[in-house]
Amino acid sequence: MATKPIPMAEALSRVLESVRPASAREVTLDEAQGCLLARELRADRDGPPFDRAMMDGFAVRLADAGATVPVTGEVAAGDTPPDGLPAGTAVRIMTGAPCPPGSEAVVPVERTEERDGLVTLPAGLQAEQHIARRGCERRAGDIVLAAGSLITPLTVAVAAGCGQTSLSVVPRPTVAVVSTGNELVQPGSDPGPYAIRDSNRPMMEALVREAGLTLKHSLHAGDTSNQLGTAFSRALDADIVIVSGGVSMGRYDLVPEVAADAGVARVFHKVWQKPGKPLFFGVVEGDPRHYFFGLPGNPLAVHFCFHQYVIPAARLLAGLPLPAAPGPAVLAEACRARGKRPSWLPALVGPDPDGGPPSARLLPIGGSADIYGAAPANALVHIDPDLGTLPAGTEVSWFPVGRGREAAGCVNEN
Ligand code: AMP
Ligand code: MG
Repeated sequence: MATKPIPMAEALSRVLESVRPASAREVTLDEAQGCLLARELRADRDGPPFDRAMMDGFAVRLADAGATVPVTGEVAAGDTPPDGLPAGTAVRIMTGAPCPPGSEAVVPVERTEERDGLVTLPAGLQAEQHIARRGCERRAGDIVLAAGSLITPLTVAVAAGCGQTSLSVVPRPTVAVVSTGNELVQPGSDPGPYAIRDSNRPMMEALVREAGLTLKHSLHAGDTSNQLGTAFSRALDADIVIVSGGVSMGRYDLVPEVAADAGVARVFHKVWQKPGKPLFFGVVEGDPRHYFFGLPGNPLAVHFCFHQYVIPAARLLAGLPLPAAPGPAVLAEACRARGKRPSWLPALVGPDPDGGPPSARLLPIGGSADIYGAAPANALVHIDPDLGTLPAGTEVSWFPVGRGREAAGCVNEN
């Protein structure tokens, strides 16, 4: 059925309105990374759990500063300490070991002299030096991670330090990618004269990984109802299904109708944008819901639509903040929009040496299939065809892609 393309902003709102954030689930620590903690975490014991030596040296009493005293024992990390530290004695101690009761300072080994079982201590000793007292970092029962904390390598360490092997989190969305097209062969196979290599599927997998999502299935289907139906029924156990190709007006563009047979209720089909006008989006009702993106097969349409629609949906599903709105940049060279649709074009955006808005240089591309021309891009830049030719210095909006997220001085994403 022919439908009228909707504006990009409306398409994004319809996607976001359709997404219901996922409910929390207990997952292993490694799965939890990048997710939001659903329930606060409390310390199971004091931290440190004993008076911990912070240097290799000697546990001593302050009154023995400047004295030469016998070394009566040794405590290594993991050892049980002696019952006490009588005045006029020292115990050799290693970093991380428990101090004997009565220890008032740890003297680093390099500040002492040891001979024949005796150690000479420096004159100036400060109370508590190089001792981390039991509970100085946290007390048993303290909240160590608030609900809503992002699970990072450091918070993984906190959870592990509190004895957790799993955490209750809003899980990372799972994704299935499906490339469609009879013309596609997988990289590594001979394409012959008229087939093309399936570059979308590895790109979609890479986009999924880059977005911190969990790839559940990666499939290819030919352009028949049967093959598509089989692929969709497998793919739809993932939270998000991303299909490339088969959503335009051609005779073999069967994705929307086969998706409908698989239970996908259409939310929209076609968006007034370039690239990616035939974009299809639908939802499978249920608990949890499943979200179905039919991306047009041209590789740059897949790339743009993933950033513009799939990432915001996935972040909302994971309870994470949406990506920052596009930021301002100025065109380094004049440019003229081609065609009538608002477009997002691959570009190189870099910091302005004078501290102004970043400067954007559009990359020469030969159309929405030109991954070769677009490959160096670190950004997508928005060009409005209604404005005609844009002179150098015109302000445009942009968002980072790929390595653009890391580029110092021009990142507009939190
Ligand atoms: P479609 O949306 O299926 O009409 O495809 C649009 C264009 O993208 C066609 O030239 C396809 O050959 C090409 N295309 C579709 N899928 C892929 C893919 N997985 N990898 C590379 N090119 C593709
Ligand atoms: Mg096709």
